[in-house]
Amino acid sequence: MAATARILDFLRDRRPEGPCLVVDLEVIEENYKAFTRAMPDTRIFYAVKANPDPEILKLLAGLGSCFDTASVAEIEMALNAGATPDRISFGNTIKKERDIARAHQYGIAMFAVDCVEEVEKVARAAPGARVFCRILTDGAGAEWPLSRKFGCDPDMAADVLLHAHALGLNAYGISFHVGSQQTRLGAWDTALEQSKAIFDVLAGHGITLSMVNLGGGFPTKYLKSVPGTGAYANAIHESLAKHFGNAIPETIIEPGRGMVGNAGVIKAEVILVSRKHANDNQRWVYLDIGKFGGLAETMDEAIRYPITTLRDDDAKLPCVIAGPTCDSADVLYEKAPYDLPVTLTVGDEVLIEATGAYTTTYASVAFNGFAPLQSYVI
Ligand SMILES: *Cc1c(COP(=O)(O)O)cnc(C)c1O
Repeated sequence: MAATARILDFLRDRRPEGPCLVVDLEVIEENYKAFTRAMPDTRIFYAVKANPDPEILKLLAGLGSCFDTASVAEIEMALNAGATPDRISFGNTIKKERDIARAHQYGIAMFAVDCVEEVEKVARAAPGARVFCRILTDGAGAEWPLSRKFGCDPDMAADVLLHAHALGLNAYGISFHVGSQQTRLGAWDTALEQSKAIFDVLAGHGITLSMVNLGGGFPTKYLKSVPGTGAYANAIHESLAKHFGNAIPETIIEPGRGMVGNAGVIKAEVILVSRKHANDNQRWVYLDIGKFGGLAETMDEAIRYPITTLRDDDAKLPCVIAGPTCDSADVLYEKAPYDLPVTLTVGDEVLIEATGAYTTTYASVAFNGFAPLQSYVI
């Protein structure tokens, strides 16, 4: 989504200095409602890491959202926003035992695991808690895949959950993440088939699993169009019916990008337009924001943000876009150059759209003295 009228008004009236993100809460409210309409039987756990701004968390808590957190600090943010502990899960599979204990003291009762070693920590530090086991997915179709860092082979998941049960935990369900910015509607199908097989193994041991955590992956529209929330909901529902028949389990989703990505716009400024030799026809356009200022997801040029300027009616030619810091890794788009107006010049403002997710928290503290990304939530 392009900048909303509210965002454009804010930028015009306030003229904030330096690069900044402006987030429109009305867009987030629409996104939340679209998820609840499309998936009325599914509880929503907003992935706090996508954008933990207190105003965003407060809005979502008020709308009834639950929260997926990865650290004690994120748990505290969700509690401060008004969420009760039963609406918060500790979804990181990699936790210090003392952080599990702290979460347990706060009343958090649902934890992610992907191995027996982590199950043992949870059993010691949060006795009796619900645990769900995360399984690996291949991430095919995702523009920001999550690799093999999280989750275990589906063949191992039953043993992990049986171990949890034996240690007095509540073996509660399965989770997976199909990869972020997942553009393939069928991505959930294989993981749901594998989940059902694990439900069956546990049932053979007299243990009834209750829940499938469908994770995140719901996209934001960047340059290419993406299917709507309803299309994802339909595909997931069909897979659930196909694999679970009449015994469809409780489901939850953990949207991060899909909840806040299209709600934010970064205003940035052109610092320099130059060439590498006199008759080079490729321009280098340097902005006052780069990989270390919040645009980390341009790593490997994975996420291509829409960039608009006031000169977009003029002819455009491809150029390299880079950030302002003294690290040569701070180049946003070079392998696949980016079309910008030939008239673009020093001092021009540009809008980097759909930047509500995974920007403010990825900004460095003060690399080269540049301040972290300023954020305004309106
Ligand atoms: C990051 C993350 C999410 C959010 O993923 P999106 O693709 O942004 O929706 C959800 N669940 C877990 C466990 C995560 O780590």
